[in-house]
Amino acid sequence: MSDWEEADGGRLAEGAVWYASQGWKILPCYGIVGGRCTCNSTHSEPKDVGKHPRIPEWNTAATSDVDTVRRWWEEDPNGNVGVYCKGSGFLVIDIDPRSGGPESFEKFEELVDGALPPTVEAVTGSYNINGRLIRGRHLFYKCFPEEQLLGNLTRSGRKGIDIKHNGYVLINPSRHFSGECYEWVEGHAPYEIEMAEAPEELLNALRKRNRKSTAVGEGDWSSIFGDIDFGADRVDIDRMLEDGIDEGSRAVDIYKLTCALANKFPVNTEMGRMAVETMMIRFNAEKVRPPLDLEGTNGLLMHVRNAIDFVS
Ligand SMILES: [Zn+2]
Repeated sequence: MSDWEEADGGRLAEGAVWYASQGWKILPCYGIVGGRCTCNSTHSEPKDVGKHPRIPEWNTAATSDVDTVRRWWEEDPNGNVGVYCKGSGFLVIDIDPRSGGPESFEKFEELVDGALPPTVEAVTGSYNINGRLIRGRHLFYKCFPEEQLLGNLTRSGRKGIDIKHNGYVLINPSRHFSGECYEWVEGHAPYEIEMAEAPEELLNALRKRNRKSTAVGEGDWSSIFGDIDFGADRVDIDRMLEDGIDEGSRAVDIYKLTCALANKFPVNTEMGRMAVETMMIRFNAEKVRPPLDLEGTNGLLMHVRNAIDFVS
């Protein structure tokens, strides 16, 4: 904590002014002094400490006007530095290690067809995850302000990844409640590397789906299953939800998916059983190629009921 408690507030002002001079839309946030938010109220959520704007209507007020920015930090030299992502022409992939962000991110990288190009990157606060200190990450990619992007990837089962576009992030040398400063990764500061354009694959994965133009059910399955904790089966289940199920593995996959669902619904009640059956009937119709017959010895309902009986 001593790192930034001793740092002179001048660094924050200096940073803010420099970013503004680069055309970034800067907004003044409250700071952290002595572990407390300089807004002087107590926050029930530690993450809110030093992380909220000091001005109303921050998105319209955020500016790259150097004089305005200098004045803001004269008023509060300890204020954290925020940047309005969309207004500055970029998006930020925010990876939070507390909710499975790093693993989600690996899967996310696969989804966007391999590694994302090197770009401006920061580390955020540090968190103790099972005895290891892990820091959050911010990856910056240029993109048009007009893009309509998802705010997070929870719906597709990738927890811990937020997309900041219509929002702001704090940047170096802002202070984080965990005691760290936001820091640029070596070689990846905006004065060391050019910010990469967001690859098309990335934007495709992040764009809000136009529901009218997508096939029936497309995307809905992820939202139904997205918040369920399937543990180690998550990868398999994500694959089934995304790619559907093919003839060769229908029975096994249906059984597996039903078991996972049955663990999350009260299948010891008629209502819970019905809910799982209904979901699987719909899943069969939409995502199984070709769909199983409902009745009969290799029918959908037989596999579903066997799985429910196994779990309950
Ligand atoms: Zn506050």
